[in-house]
Order: sequence, then structure tokens, then C-alpha cells
Amino acid sequence: MPKEPASASLPTVKVSPRGAARLKDGHVWVYRSDIVTADSVLPGSLVRVTDHRGKPLGFALYSSSSQIAIRMISRDTPSHEPVTDLPALLRHRIAEAIAYRAPLVIDTDAYRVIFSEADFLPGLIVDRYADILSIQILTQAMDADHVRQSILAELTALLHPASIVERVDPRVRELETLPPRASGLLQGQKFATTFTMNSVQFRFDALEGQKTGAFLDQRENYAAAARYAKGEALDVFCYQGGFALHLAPHCAQVTGVDSSRPALEVADQNAALNDALLKAKEIEWIEANAFDLLKDYSSSAHTYEARRYDTIVLDPPAFAKSKRDLDAALRGYKELNLRALKMLRPAGILVTCSCSYHVSQSNFLEMLASAALDAHRTLRLLEVRGQAKDHPILLNVPETSYLKCVIATVSH
Ligand code: SAH
Repeated sequence: MPKEPASASLPTVKVSPRGAARLKDGHVWVYRSDIVTADSVLPGSLVRVTDHRGKPLGFALYSSSSQIAIRMISRDTPSHEPVTDLPALLRHRIAEAIAYRAPLVIDTDAYRVIFSEADFLPGLIVDRYADILSIQILTQAMDADHVRQSILAELTALLHPASIVERVDPRVRELETLPPRASGLLQGQKFATTFTMNSVQFRFDALEGQKTGAFLDQRENYAAAARYAKGEALDVFCYQGGFALHLAPHCAQVTGVDSSRPALEVADQNAALNDALLKAKEIEWIEANAFDLLKDYSSSAHTYEARRYDTIVLDPPAFAKSKRDLDAALRGYKELNLRALKMLRPAGILVTCSCSYHVSQSNFLEMLASAALDAHRTLRLLEVRGQAKDHPILLNVPETSYLKCVIATVSH
């Protein structure tokens, strides 16, 4: 008798024609509404996926509670290698993710090592901050004890971190019906370190209550912004100083604005770390609501508050958390950009970002064009950029692409 393949013992999830079509289009998710049968499939299982007639479509990780019921982990059909040993596959994918970045990630010891679906490891995010790894586990399958253990073992073997910390989002665990867990050290004792990107140094501190980290996805945009920065600069939504610190060596004066005092305190510590680079230049940190501040600063040139700049960075939090928020989000972006454009001197540089996935690049450029018209400024595009290459974009999975960063110059 021919030996049955080990994958035959895996539970099977049947998907509807619409779900199957989505997978054929190259996507990796099937929503719960497109599941035909998932009888007695345990939460977080590795499953075989078939269409409604039973034709194999590949292998996936199953969630019993998320709206995204299955996340494909392999499209291999029985004519290829079947997936039987999940930990072994994950170890292989982790090694691949690390190898992928080796030639692409330069001049930094802080970067995203694993970006979930974009690294074919759905539900796992790993960031490296020098000798500390920060991991996020986002699905039932990745949370299983034996899966966690093999992830940690492989990361340790390949990257030799001093410690590994876990960042927990309680809302994600709730959605995945996973028991609550605290953020904290998973391995090792070290929770604070200093990392360097583009020769600029930053603090990382994973200790409860003063968690820090960085917007690693902006790393290449920091370097790009620094290439154009000049004169007096304003970094709006500066957080811990990512853009401000990169601009400072090229500018006469830099001001950072954020509504979070703890973020500004870390920004100030970061400035102190970069004394040599800043050559005693002081960065001014202002705690304020950016909308109010820009309203005051952009007002007519005759008022006391009006300010003018040569470089302005806008990097607000995501305004569109869902598709429904798109119009309101675009109004928010337009207000900020309009005010910034009014404040720029001729030949000034605008660096404007959006990390809302629901605002597409063309939505964003249209918004900016309309803000320029209303501000009576003529804008020339210098660069239309996205997320750093350690946050890969899977072309057929639009959700993996979210960051926009436009650099433009005001001609008059
Ligand atoms: N530019 C930063 C990342 C910005 S994240 C970097 O590269 O590291 C968004 C920031 O906006 C957060 O620090 C948050 O505190 C701040 N923020 C949110 N709403 C704000 C508001 N209305 N006014 C000012 N800052 C705000």
C-alpha cells in the first residue's frame, strides 16, 4: 500500500469560490465569510486548504476567531512538498527573512527582521534594536507554545541577541481569543540599549511604563529628508526625534513638535546622545497639539505668532483606521499640509507622510495637489517614497504597503 503523506492527517478547511479566487489572485488571506467548512479544526492549527470541490490550494494557519480565518503559509499543492512540520518551516522562513535583508539593510543596527505576511510568516513581527529583539505575536498559530519556542530558538541561533522582549497588544489577543499576557522579557536580562541608524543614535528601552522604540519604516526616509534639509526646520509629530535628529546636522535651527511629553523627553535624551553630530546645536522641543500650533504659526504674516520655515516635516499618526474614515482623514491631511505650505519660504522643502493604509498613494498626492492650490503655492515633486525595504511589500497583498512619504519643493 502506498504510504499516505503526513499532510493527509492535517485538518482541511474548504473555502468558497470567492475565497479561492482571492487566493488565485495572489492574496494570502481568506475571510471567515468565505469559509465553507472548517469542521473540528482547532484554534491556531496548520490546515490544508481546498476549494469547495476539494481541489488543494495549499496550507494555511487557521484562526477560530479572527475575521481573517486563514492566512496562507504555503501554496504548495501535493505535486510540491507538503507542509507537515510547521516549526521546521518557520525556522526556514526566519532564516530566509534574515538573508533577504542582508544586502538591503545598510547603515543601521535597528530594522524589522520579520514583517508578518511580507516575509511569509503571517502573525509574526520581529524588530531588532542593536542587541535586543522585540517581537510581536499576532495570531493563535504563532502563539502556540511549541511555535514560540522554535521562533525564539531560531532567532537566538541566527542573531545572538542579548535579550528578546515581547510587545503585547491586548486588543489583538482579545480578537484572537488568546489569554491575556504582559509585555516583557522573554529571554535574557537586558531591556535597554542604544541603536544607530544612518549614524544617528537613539535610546531603546523596553522597561514597563517607558517603552520606546522607533518608526523603523521611516529609516530610509530620514536619510532622504536629510539630503534636502536646510535653514530653519520644523518636525511636526516628531515623537522621539526621528526626523529632527536627522535634519539637525544640515539645518541652522530645528524645532520638534509633539503632543506627548514622554516622547519629547526621550527625544531630548536622544539629542544628548548625538552631541558630536549636532555640534552643540540645540533642538527645541514643543509639547503642543499640532493642529492648534500650525493654525497659529501659519496665520497671516502680520500677526505675532506667524512663523516661516525652510524645511517642514509632517508625520502624523494614521488618520484612517478604516475605509470609512477616508474622507475625514483626507480633510485632516489637507489641513496640515495646507498650513505647512503657507509656512514654507520660497524654495522650501516639504516632507509629508501618511501611514494610513486606507489612504492610497494617489489619494495622498491628490490631497497634496489640492492643498497646494488652496495655499497658492506651486509644488514640485522631488521624491515619492514608501516604507524602508526591511518592511517588504508583497505586490499581490496590498495591505503590506502602507507608508507614503512625499518630498516636494515650493517654487513660489
Ligand atoms: N515622526 C516620528 C513618528 C511620528 S508618530 C518618527 O519618525 O519617529 C506620530 C506622533 O504624533 C506620536 O508621537 C504622537 O504622540 C503624535 N501626535 C498624535 N496626535 C498629535 C497631535 N494632535 N498633535 C501633536 N502630536 C500628535
